[in-house]
Amino acid sequence: MNYTKTSLKHGYANQILSIDLGGSAIAVDPLSPEVRDFFIGGRGLGLYLLHRRITAATTAQSPENPLIFAPGPLGGVPQFPGTSKCMAVSLSPLTHIPGVSNFGGHFGAYLKYAGFDALEISGIAKRNVMIVINGFRGEISITDAPAIDQVFDLEQAIIEQFVQAGYDKKNMVFLTTGVGAVNTSYGCINSHYFDAAKPAHGAKGLFRTKQAGRTGLGSVMSQKNIRAVVVLAHYPHGDNPYGAADWNKVKQAGLKLHKIVKEVDPQSLQMYRKGSAGLISFMNKGEYQSLPVKNYQFGSDPHAGQICGKYYSEHLFDHRGMDGCFPGCNLRCTKGGWVTLASGEHSGKQVWVDGPEYETAAGFGSNLGIWHPEFIMEANWHCDNYGIDTITTAVIMAFLMECYQREYLTAEDTDGFTLHWGDEEAALAFIHQLARGETALARAAGRSMVDLTAWIAAKYAARTGKPDPQKDLEQFAMQTKGLPFSLYRTHRSLSMQASYAAASDIGAHHAAAWLVKVDLLGAFPTFETKAKALITYPRVRLGNDNLGLCKLPWVDVFNPDSGGRRNTDIYINPASQEIYADFYNGMLGTRMTWEKIFEQTDRDINLQRIMNVSAFGATTGEHDWIPDRAIGPTDDYLYDVEKEYNDEQLSGFLHKPSAYIAKMETPEKRKLLMEHRREELRKLIAVYYTQRGWSNNGIPRVETLKQIGLWDFLTEETKTKIAALNGQ
Ligand code: SF4
Repeated sequence: MNYTKTSLKHGYANQILSIDLGGSAIAVDPLSPEVRDFFIGGRGLGLYLLHRRITAATTAQSPENPLIFAPGPLGGVPQFPGTSKCMAVSLSPLTHIPGVSNFGGHFGAYLKYAGFDALEISGIAKRNVMIVINGFRGEISITDAPAIDQVFDLEQAIIEQFVQAGYDKKNMVFLTTGVGAVNTSYGCINSHYFDAAKPAHGAKGLFRTKQAGRTGLGSVMSQKNIRAVVVLAHYPHGDNPYGAADWNKVKQAGLKLHKIVKEVDPQSLQMYRKGSAGLISFMNKGEYQSLPVKNYQFGSDPHAGQICGKYYSEHLFDHRGMDGCFPGCNLRCTKGGWVTLASGEHSGKQVWVDGPEYETAAGFGSNLGIWHPEFIMEANWHCDNYGIDTITTAVIMAFLMECYQREYLTAEDTDGFTLHWGDEEAALAFIHQLARGETALARAAGRSMVDLTAWIAAKYAARTGKPDPQKDLEQFAMQTKGLPFSLYRTHRSLSMQASYAAASDIGAHHAAAWLVKVDLLGAFPTFETKAKALITYPRVRLGNDNLGLCKLPWVDVFNPDSGGRRNTDIYINPASQEIYADFYNGMLGTRMTWEKIFEQTDRDINLQRIMNVSAFGATTGEHDWIPDRAIGPTDDYLYDVEKEYNDEQLSGFLHKPSAYIAKMETPEKRKLLMEHRREELRKLIAVYYTQRGWSNNGIPRVETLKQIGLWDFLTEETKTKIAALNGQ
């Protein structure tokens, strides 16, 4: 089908591309100004499109469940650092509620350059297909895909096909997934782009990847029989290429943030050398105990230096080239290097690995008791190659290892296979089995943490004749709303506990409210400041997801001017926020403060909540909870490992001297500590609901939705349901 490409205006293409694979129907529709101005773009727009497409009967597997990709109005502007992001949105096959995942690279920018603010794909193709959006010709086509189920082989086939057709590598970007997305419900989507500066095999230029890893959207893609989505496009040219309302203001804002990144990063986190893996050392600090070790049982380990960013920076990362995942990002945190594979059918082959980022390094490293960086890179590569989320895979493996440790599982249950702490060979074998769905254990693990827990409980009860241990297992099966945790141990951060439990509506992920670091640094000393942070930080963080922006140049580069601000939360980096406001106002032609810009995020936060309420009904609030392991010590041994800290906390809330606490028995102390922490979390969640204008079951009130203007955008089915749940 042919279409007409429009020039960008205020960062928008003002068109949406809809593809129905069932009927092979393709439509290009205008983006309604009312929808655009209310939902902004990216995540907000994606959630709105999802909401309009689904009903209460829609499941993740339903043909009508759309898979949506949406950049935002500030995405794809290389004059400003960090404009790389695009959002993937769909009903999640892992959690059965809306799944949202952001990803970097060039895909979002090129989709917009090709003429679209969003791509929504519904239906299921009858054969494996590749969708091609050709911005040069103004043409959309659905073609047969190469019959290749591993991502990096598929990558080569796609590159060859389009190079042979005469396209320059720098003008092609694409999304893929692999066989692991077929055999698990947590498939990831790889976003491929050409990095012309990275030396490879004596020449320059290498295809790099970023992943939309969370919530299983690669599995939606594979279930629709989409092997790849290709966009052919190039950067817009001219005096004001992105149609900014005030191009000079945009460029000035970009220069300001560039300068701050350039001056601050080398003196602080050194993301340009260590990538996000540099965070390992911070989380591992003895006083923070926030690096998950052996399925979040422990929070620190002396071996952590072996897998930290400094080690990768000095031994494994290839620093040549730029390492920005989009032009203009001088934070350049997209690190990677070469490793020789030790397992699988490609064993012995040297491959390029993009990563590991912090989550993958902690997930396959400390949380499995493995302190071998090459192993972590290999596990990272296999997950990307199979198309499975590294975080979910690693956290499920950590749970399995603890099940073997505590003998909830034995070799007898799993046909002789075992997975123990530190066993690299078995860990790699398991990743291969998981991606291929080769064993009963791998198939149960591939469905979800929830299903796996039930599967292990049944095995244990059958083998031992003891009562079903499901409740015991749930204490350390690290998932919320079905989504396995990202890699932060939260014993010492009540804010982060509430973030995982309630403020993240996709399940236990840190995208909405990554509060752990600033909480540990002392940003939220009182209960009130913790509660406030659960509102203010998601506004900015998810607001960035609406705009097409990467959070790292804001969150990981502390603007020195922020330190001097008075009567405000300096940890939210207000001086940099003002630069972002200039960028926003310059592009969109508005005159808003950064606070007002990000307040708009409350609209899509409420919309996502409403879709969760549609799935969970009156029990919505019960899903806002985390396993005991995320709250505190789940056995007496674990209490005593951090005895000093735990005793001190006990002494504080019991108002008893430490000598008194020292005489108490550990079981009693642990019981009191856990009760106290659970109660604190419950109180914080209750305050969060109140601040949001939600009921004490976590259900948005009708008046709240009317007040923020969302009510008018809801479907009639949703309005009826929400009104009924509010007793109206
Ligand atoms: S900070 Fe890192 S992830 Fe973000 S846009 Fe820059 S290179 Fe990409």
